[in-house]
Amino acid sequence: MELKSTKSRNEILSLLKKQSAPIAASEIFKKLMSKKITLSTVYRTLEAFSKNGVVKKEVQQNGTAVYYLASNEHCHILECKNCHNTIRLKYCPYDNANDRIKKETNFLVDEENVVIYGLCKNCSKKK
Ligand SMILES: [Zn+2]
Ligand SMILES: [Zn+2]
Repeated sequence: MELKSTKSRNEILSLLKKQSAPIAASEIFKKLMSKKITLSTVYRTLEAFSKNGVVKKEVQQNGTAVYYLASNEHCHILECKNCHNTIRLKYCPYDNANDRIKKETNFLVDEENVVIYGLCKNCSKKK
């Protein structure tokens, strides 16, 4: 269950990254149909991300809500598995890793997990 939502969040965010214009939740759902992500998961994820300021929401004149990434810069999001707080990383922690992968295997990474999961400062203290 937890793993599934992790995967769909990354799918939704990497899709949003590729969009040049704001997109409606139903469009995202259609595009991710093959990934078996439900419409309610799409909505829930978008709402969570817009609360965190990762995604911006705009309501069009016809009443349809559309979503877009708050910033098009390459960034990653750290999400706490316990309290679901997010921290925005302004740099790519995979840069060096990708170079290394390319050197060692000639494999070019073009998809990374946008959301990185773990425990935030507060929650890791409690454990
Ligand atoms: Zn936490
Ligand atoms: Zn990156």
